[in-house]
Amino acid sequence: MEIGFIGLGNMGSGMAANLVKAGHAVTVYNRSPAKAETLAQQGATPARTVADACGGDVVVTMLADDPAVEDVVFGERGVLSSLPAGATHVSASTISVELSNRLTAAHAHAGQHYVAAPVFGRPEAAAAAKLFVVAAGPPQVLESLAPLFEAIGQRTFVVSEQQHAANLVKLSGNFLIASVIESIGEAVALVGKAGVDPLHYVDILTSTLFSAPAYQTYGKLIAQQEFEPAGFAATLGLKDVRLVLAAAEELAVPLPLASLLRDRFLTLLANGGGHLDWSAIATLSGRDAGIVAIASAAKPGAAGRHQSA
Ligand code: NAP
Repeated sequence: MEIGFIGLGNMGSGMAANLVKAGHAVTVYNRSPAKAETLAQQGATPARTVADACGGDVVVTMLADDPAVEDVVFGERGVLSSLPAGATHVSASTISVELSNRLTAAHAHAGQHYVAAPVFGRPEAAAAAKLFVVAAGPPQVLESLAPLFEAIGQRTFVVSEQQHAANLVKLSGNFLIASVIESIGEAVALVGKAGVDPLHYVDILTSTLFSAPAYQTYGKLIAQQEFEPAGFAATLGLKDVRLVLAAAEELAVPLPLASLLRDRFLTLLANGGGHLDWSAIATLSGRDAGIVAIASAAKPGAAGRHQSA
């Protein structure tokens, strides 16, 4: 397939590289051009503009957040005005249900196809083509995208014909992961204050009743206090909790845990931890218990919106 790929951050760089490896003709664009040059060394064609990446059958966007997707899609010479009629935009970013609905309408109006295909898996999984793709859109279009999804992931789940459903499933999943992170943080603070080694503790849990990947991955990161470099920045974690709360408000579904998590992320960001991995909210329980400072690596002045988020 001829594929344009826009957004070569922690996730997109591995995904685009795997599309190249699978034999697709991939044109890559990134706002900061150096990242496209790196992909060019792996066999991709670098594009100088968004429009230059929109000449094929499909363009994939893997961008930080709603504003980034809005800039790239609706901006001058953006995806919407550059993609040929009949071609497909695959949005893999974790974005709002509301924006996904706007993209559905705008692409339909332009005679283009739109598929929502957010993913589960961190950058290591993206690099290893082990993502889980959560897809929604017109069945025939999804069928035609099978080779693309196979190149980036280990399994694709088709949720619905309604694109926004995939975004809601992805956001709900991230809400659950953040809840796991918070609860591991609280449990580690409890046993840690009593002198139990956190790594040993996490090993006991994940070898018994809590063997799921979310506990394995985040238990280890939290026990080892490995928050830099961020695989998934705390600023992006806050974004997702805000998006799940917005979707829940629209549906009149109270999510008291998500409200608590939102404040945990705000506390981390207010204390300079926005650039850390989102699992660093787990350190807040240790701080509340008087045993550790907020992630010691947090740098003053890093509070607020992450540059690329
Ligand atoms: P990232 O490393 O911060 O990369 C963000 C990308 O968006 C970069 O290519 C950045 O370009 C681009 N970007 C940001 N604002 C832009 C704008 N206004 N115009 C054009 N490009 C812009 O983020 P990531 O970790 O790859 O995550 C990407 C998406 O995947 C997010 O929606 C995230 O929630 C989701 N996701 C992440 C993970 C994970 O574990 N990291 C897992 C699943 C899903 P520059 O290079 O120029 O800054």
